[in-house]
Amino acid sequence: MQTDLGTIVVVEDDPNIADLVDIYLRREGFRVILAADGEAGLAAIDRERPRLAILDVGLPGAIDGLEVCRRVRSRLPLPVLMLTARDGEIDRILGLELGADDYVTKPFSPRELVARVRAILRRSDGPREAPGVLLVGPVEVDTGRREARVAGQVVPLAAREFELLQFLAGNAGLALTRQQLLDGVWGAGWYGDERTVDVHVRQLRKKLGAALPLATVWGVGYRLG
Ligand code: CA
Repeated sequence: MQTDLGTIVVVEDDPNIADLVDIYLRREGFRVILAADGEAGLAAIDRERPRLAILDVGLPGAIDGLEVCRRVRSRLPLPVLMLTARDGEIDRILGLELGADDYVTKPFSPRELVARVRAILRRSDGPREAPGVLLVGPVEVDTGRREARVAGQVVPLAAREFELLQFLAGNAGLALTRQQLLDGVWGAGWYGDERTVDVHVRQLRKKLGAALPLATVWGVGYRLG
């Protein structure tokens, strides 16, 4: 069996779902490490340094999937796909605000899950345009290293936050609608609420602070620079 696509850590306490995800990802060529609770999941992520983590929100024990996501994303640029049984928008937004790259609501089809995994890895696999450094005010957006710097200091951003910043920087001076930002950053096929953009903008403002010349254009959306 082909295992050259890299490792994915799956943290899911339901053995039926874990087995299904395992089978489909292996069939695609991924190496899969399963963990059934938050502690084991964090240990597996630290040990394996996977390309991606799939985290169920509802896990037994003290550390649920959202907490695993928060802890991982506070120190690693690891792409995260959340699985949630809760269909509320709040849960979705919360998952995204914690730095998750995408989410899938149960019940999901394994094919859909695999498609999401591939899409996340495509997005996180290096820049689509020639790498370079875009300068927006005092913020350096390094598309090669995929990092943002202020005064030479790296500001840790979640993968999607960086992509939003990069897209805004690539269109500096233009007022962009939330829909344009969703299409440009999340992809035209992404199904979700425009508030997702606001949540990520809030994170960028929080992390980059006053250094970020990002204006809200009322009735339109956002403009950088
Ligand atoms: Ca669960």
